[in-house]
Amino acid sequence: MTNTTEKLMEKASAFHGHVCGGLAIGVKACEALAEFWNLNLSDSQVPNSTLKEKIVCVAENDSCSIDAIQSILGCTLGSGTLFVNNVGKQAFSFFDRESQKSLRICLNVNFDSTPKEERKNIILATPIRSLFKYSEPNIAVPRRAKIFRNARCERCLEYSAESCIRLYGGKLVCAECYRILRDSENI
Ligand SMILES: [Zn+2]
Ligand SMILES: [Zn+2]
Repeated sequence: MTNTTEKLMEKASAFHGHVCGGLAIGVKACEALAEFWNLNLSDSQVPNSTLKEKIVCVAENDSCSIDAIQSILGCTLGSGTLFVNNVGKQAFSFFDRESQKSLRICLNVNFDSTPKEERKNIILATPIRSLFKYSEPNIAVPRRAKIFRNARCERCLEYSAESCIRLYGGKLVCAECYRILRDSENI
């Protein structure tokens, strides 16, 4: 494990709350991206804060590894630079909005038979070329978040983004009320 890997692991675990194999996968994915895109992860700032939030990540899982992506690269849900499309894969598609670069990084090793307590160290010690496979993403870069106006739900009277309002029985209702009304129909 290099000095940088160790430092990144420290940073990620401070954010994540514990040290684990999943987090190690995320740390290695960040290192792999940094190598391909020539990013500097060793300074104290996260790339997205210095690069004006241009790196976008679409994660194919919602597990521990995402916390490494968030803490090291600065891709976050609230800034529209992290999207979760959970299909249960340790895979991440990265997009650089500025240069139009993109890269999908997918774990290519199954650690199921590795004892849990050994996983983290083995993952961290595995070279990124043998740990992941690399390809073009299967998807296009997600669109920038739009700011929607709000509309009042005619059932619960709460405000909801217009984009989430549905029509039910002639009434404009929020997504949650729509679900409740639909469910009551099926009883
Ligand atoms: Zn964890
Ligand atoms: Zn409602």
